[in-house]
Amino acid sequence: MSSNSNPNPLAKARIAVLGYGSQGRAHALNLRDSGLDVVIGLRPNGPTWHKAKAEGFTVLEPGEAVKGADLVAVLTPDMVQPTLYRESIEPNIKPGAALLFAHGFNVHFGQIVPRKDIDVILVAPKGPGALVRTEYERGRGVPCIWAVYQDVTGHAEATTKGYADGIGGGRAMIIKTDFKEETETDLFGEQAVLCGGASELVIAGFETLTEAGYQPEIAYYEVMHELKLIVDLFYEGGLTKMLQFVSETAQYGDYVSGPRVIDAGVKARMKDVLRDIQDGTFARNWTEEYKAGLPNYKKLKQADLDHPIEKVGAKLRAQMPWLQPQSPAEPLKKAG
Ligand code: NAD
Ligand code: MG
Repeated sequence: MSSNSNPNPLAKARIAVLGYGSQGRAHALNLRDSGLDVVIGLRPNGPTWHKAKAEGFTVLEPGEAVKGADLVAVLTPDMVQPTLYRESIEPNIKPGAALLFAHGFNVHFGQIVPRKDIDVILVAPKGPGALVRTEYERGRGVPCIWAVYQDVTGHAEATTKGYADGIGGGRAMIIKTDFKEETETDLFGEQAVLCGGASELVIAGFETLTEAGYQPEIAYYEVMHELKLIVDLFYEGGLTKMLQFVSETAQYGDYVSGPRVIDAGVKARMKDVLRDIQDGTFARNWTEEYKAGLPNYKKLKQADLDHPIEKVGAKLRAQMPWLQPQSPAEPLKKAG
């Protein structure tokens, strides 16, 4: 499924990456290592300005980076993008340039209405920025989904695939989507399953065991630490591999007790969550929360950080130094 076009259609393009956080840093480093011309756009002396400079990039104010760029990758937090677009991108982006997002939120929910004389495209890696970088360094890539929202040049698709190749996605797999599907599925995944669902499942399991009098250390290993082993099996071989590697007793318990916990009520509420995403309720609430200075976000985040599982977890993880991220993985030798 890789486009594997050679040479990259962006070979002669100047790419401005706005933001040098999780995705921005990974994309910028990978694009540069793919031989492409990259400059970084950041607020002067913002938190990542020095990091990008220290890593050898030309760092400009966002408006200056956008001027003269053939492709502008918008990799700042979603909530700052509408102002960034109005102030730095809209007045400066060249006609016929490409505006690229890694998440369709602002375009799909109408927070950014792109100029009509530019291509508008999306490349969303299905993994966090750190993995986008380490997989690239190993000669591999993270699968990406891609979309074209607006094609004024007639080569928006080639540009999009060129970018996906440049960040390493083409080495793994690229799948076509549209802004609506990417936005809605991404929000649903992180809310219902990956971030929201998984953390609430773990917390409920931890509370159930500790309230029944079991040691918090044992509860921690049981419901948080060991989850990684199961998720790794999912990742490598789905339910099939997980079932191959756990005991018959664990399998029987899975079959009879799993559906008692995650029952039809859970699925009905997942559908409620999806409806709020699709009809714009979530986007409106999140935008209002952000504009109000994040009062609920801060309170809810603190409650997670203060949960007893975090106290016992910090203590146990301090005794397992091997869990801390390794220095960047040894690049694997590429075949051929
Ligand atoms: P982040 O919070 O890690 O990045 C923040 C970067 O933006 C920093 O360099 C910061 O200095 C800069 N920044 C903040 N405000 C700015 C401003 N006003 N002007 C210029 N620069 C500014 O962001 P992220 O998590 O990498 O997300 C970037 C985009 O990628 C978002 O659209 C997000 O939805 C998408 N995405 C993220 C992930 C992920 O794993 N984090 C995965 C897929 C897609
Ligand atoms: Mg997301």
